[in-house]
Amino acid sequence: MIKTISKSQIKEVAQEAYEVVKKENGGANANYIPYLANIDKDLFGVSICLMDGEIINIGDTTFKFGIESVSKVHTAILALKEYGADKILELIGADATGLPFNSIEAILLEKDHPSTPLVNAGAIVACSLVKPLGNSDEKWAAIVQNITDIAGSAPVLIDELYKSESDTNYNNRAIAWLLKNYDRIYDDPTMALDLYTRQCSLGITTEQLAISAATIANNGVNPVTHKNVFDASLTPPITSLIASVGFYEHTGDWMYTSGIPAKSGVGGGIMGVLPGLMGISTFAPPLDSAGNSVKAQAAVKYIINKLGINIFSATQVTIKE
Ligand code: GLN
Repeated sequence: MIKTISKSQIKEVAQEAYEVVKKENGGANANYIPYLANIDKDLFGVSICLMDGEIINIGDTTFKFGIESVSKVHTAILALKEYGADKILELIGADATGLPFNSIEAILLEKDHPSTPLVNAGAIVACSLVKPLGNSDEKWAAIVQNITDIAGSAPVLIDELYKSESDTNYNNRAIAWLLKNYDRIYDDPTMALDLYTRQCSLGITTEQLAISAATIANNGVNPVTHKNVFDASLTPPITSLIASVGFYEHTGDWMYTSGIPAKSGVGGGIMGVLPGLMGISTFAPPLDSAGNSVKAQAAVKYIINKLGINIFSATQVTIKE
């Protein structure tokens, strides 16, 4: 079962999704990080990057919003590159927690490692693993360079967001020290937490996240810059991590209704990966109760369902001019 869709069909459906979803006004900006509470709630953007590097942009696709938890994917890739898939499975794990992104309980329930690099505990451990250990400046440079390579251009630190998060991240501080208590963090906990907080505070656009997702979908080769960022063998493990826990406790519902592995962030961004086909990113600040953007979810679902490119479908899709 093979089906072909055209680029103009993708553009039409993306435009349609934008028009339909723009009218939805459910959800509320993240309120536990003061900076995010004040972002214009009507911002809305949709970007798609195809495997030949062509980009479709609709709406607010140049606005730099907080990357937040979507950055967990990028730094998981860096840790996978530096340590290999087997070692990351051993040190962090690849299981869904089924619990909220900042769960302390999830750490207490696990016997040996924090489950996955895509929840706060595992993401802080991934930051602790980034080389060279003990050197915050060089680790930060490696994290930013890695995001730059995957996204095709540099993210920009939003100082006000970084300060806002650093001043209020008491729960994450508890997570970092609990990990230390169980010997599951591999560098100074305060440094690892600061790197995590800083990477969450990077400003990014939907275009950069669509390119990021397309780099994953394209076996580690950035389709815009053509740089080979990571080995093709890492596309299945990173995509499987995204598929299993990208929407935290709502991941099953997400996969069931959307058919695309995707990662969300409380900044309002979503990044979805369709291996071999495309990367997609949508952004709108108001979130549902689990911290996932209402409009961004609706737009991705609309596009993927209407195009019929569900990764669980037996129909193989190819894209033509
Ligand atoms: N920086 C945020 C936090 O750690 C990221 C959470 C998210 O995007 N889900 O709470």
